[in-house]
Amino acid sequence: MSPRPDVIVVGTGLIGTASALAVAERGLRVALIGEHRPGEASPAAAGMLAPSVERAVGPAHDFAIAARDRYPEYLRYLADATGVRVPLNRRGILQLALSEKGIKGLKRTALPTSKWMTAGEVRELEPSLSHGLGAMYNPDDGAVDNVALLEAMDRLASSIDRIERFTDAVLSIGAGASSCSVTTASHGSLDAAHTVLAAGAWAGSIKGARLGKAVSPARGQLVLYETCPLRHVVYGPRGYLVPRGDGTIGGSTMENTGFDASITESGVSKVRAAAEEICPQLAAVPDPKAWAGLRPVTPDMLPIIGRDPEHASLIYACGHSRNGVLMAPLTGDVVADLVTGAALRHDLTQFRPGRF
Ligand SMILES: Cc1cc2nc3c(=O)[nH]c(=O)nc-3n(C[C@H](O)[C@H](O)[C@H](O)COP(=O)(O)OP(=O)(O)OC[C@H]3O[C@@H](n4cnc5c(N)ncnc54)[C@H](O)[C@@H]3O)c2cc1C
Repeated sequence: MSPRPDVIVVGTGLIGTASALAVAERGLRVALIGEHRPGEASPAAAGMLAPSVERAVGPAHDFAIAARDRYPEYLRYLADATGVRVPLNRRGILQLALSEKGIKGLKRTALPTSKWMTAGEVRELEPSLSHGLGAMYNPDDGAVDNVALLEAMDRLASSIDRIERFTDAVLSIGAGASSCSVTTASHGSLDAAHTVLAAGAWAGSIKGARLGKAVSPARGQLVLYETCPLRHVVYGPRGYLVPRGDGTIGGSTMENTGFDASITESGVSKVRAAAEEICPQLAAVPDPKAWAGLRPVTPDMLPIIGRDPEHASLIYACGHSRNGVLMAPLTGDVVADLVTGAALRHDLTQFRPGRF
């Protein structure tokens, strides 16, 4: 590649691509390196934007809310640049209660911004949930079509001259204080002032990415019913449902099975049972399609975002666990701030590399 890139981004999922786009927007040259692997999380995810439910505390929660609220503007930017309109649902998320104990639990843990809905109100809003005893309503949460999002971001990255893409495996990263080299399987070595590690569940398997070792894969199996009785994302006691186009995604398992991204009979039946408990009419749909992905999880389920404390040229943007779709656009912004030395607009203390 010539001239030399300013920044190398490792990983072409939502986090790597958002980072590459944001860095290129600031006028820097980017080498974006990645290869497809079974189980990559970004196209597999359910796409929920659920900071009120998949909840953190303190500044991490504020970051998640800001990440959700970054979406409308980000999708406008993508649409202006590519002509692709990525579907966004901001109708709010319902947490459906199916028992008296469930009602108590939801009321006890609700955010001040959430609102209790009676069974009648739920029925009016979503007739297919008429067996529910009520629901906690979390306004402004929702879902994005993460498959369409990744495609649009990919398309934009391909159209920007300052981004050069390499389909390749990254073998090692050699990070110093002011420059970083990356060795690939087919393109030899590349050098840049900064490298961004956005390799998802594989962040710890790249030689030299020492703080990425805190990230491990957690398999999630999902199903897609070819019918869409709901307008809102709905959580039940054991799973969730996400309307997607003409279908409904049901999820999900959380399994420690290493890098095995296959589906299992027991996993799929568990997901189906959780989904059909929320919306019983889905039980009539025969053989929903099923797939699995590998969440890049950390011990505290928060991402690792920031510079390596010993090698400032290496920036971590990995371990987004269950919220990587939610956090992708804002993570891109933060990575661009870190690379350019701009003032940080968010408190990243809880995300610091090396905290484990
Ligand atoms: C079943 C499931 C449901 C989910 N639902 C949601 C949800 O509703 N909402 C939400 O916000 N999040 C959700 N997530 C989490 C979210 O998908 C992830 O946090 C996010 O996609 C992580 O993005 P990423 O770019 O870090 O990783 P990935 O998407 O996995 O991308 C990493 C990329 O790096 C590449 N790579 C890795 N190592 C190398 C290497 N050495 N050389 C070259 N390339 C490499 C991989 O092949 C991959 O393409 C879900 C995840 C799963 C699995």
